[in-house]
Amino acid sequence: MNPSPVTAAEIKAAIRNIPDFPQPGIQFKDITPVLASPRLLAGAIDLLAGHHAPGSIDAVVGIDARGFIFAAAAALKLGAGFVPVRKKGKLPYQTLEQSYALEYGTNTIAIHVDAVKPGARVILMDDLLATGGTAAAAAELLQKINAHIVEISFLIELSFLEGRRRLSQYPVRSVVVF
Ligand code: AMP
Repeated sequence: MNPSPVTAAEIKAAIRNIPDFPQPGIQFKDITPVLASPRLLAGAIDLLAGHHAPGSIDAVVGIDARGFIFAAAAALKLGAGFVPVRKKGKLPYQTLEQSYALEYGTNTIAIHVDAVKPGARVILMDDLLATGGTAAAAAELLQKINAHIVEISFLIELSFLEGRRRLSQYPVRSVVVF
């Protein structure tokens, strides 16, 4: 294995573009080549979470479903817990729900009412920032349970969709920008 640190450019080069998936006009960013590479997977987690001191974060909150992959690994790296924000109807305990418009379609997401303690320091994480609707809805849920959002982190940002604008009240980081 190449021991030099993984760069964002290396990750960017491994992301596969799938035109017209899941519907015409959408350029789907396929991250499976990044996930399948031991080096790039570890590098992606370092680039997503490495700037936070271990122990400084209470929970990494991942968004259903690809956000789970990065959030759980980042939580392990930071000595934090993992919290899922799931699609409506999947969480077994009492939930809060939030609906929003996607780049394609609409969605409702949910969080357990007791997912974090009030004032908990959390990072919200997903694979990709497009219009920002998903992350804004997840941030709204976190506000409702009184979490303190330290940062919202994405592996990929589609900057031309200006999703950052909808998250302007939070620090937002992305590893790779298209
Ligand atoms: P948005 O709410 O518009 O920011 O969309 C972000 C969510 O939709 C993320 O959970 C992504 O996984 C998914 N998504 C949106 N657009 C794409 C895309 N072009 N390629 C891959 N995933 C996408």
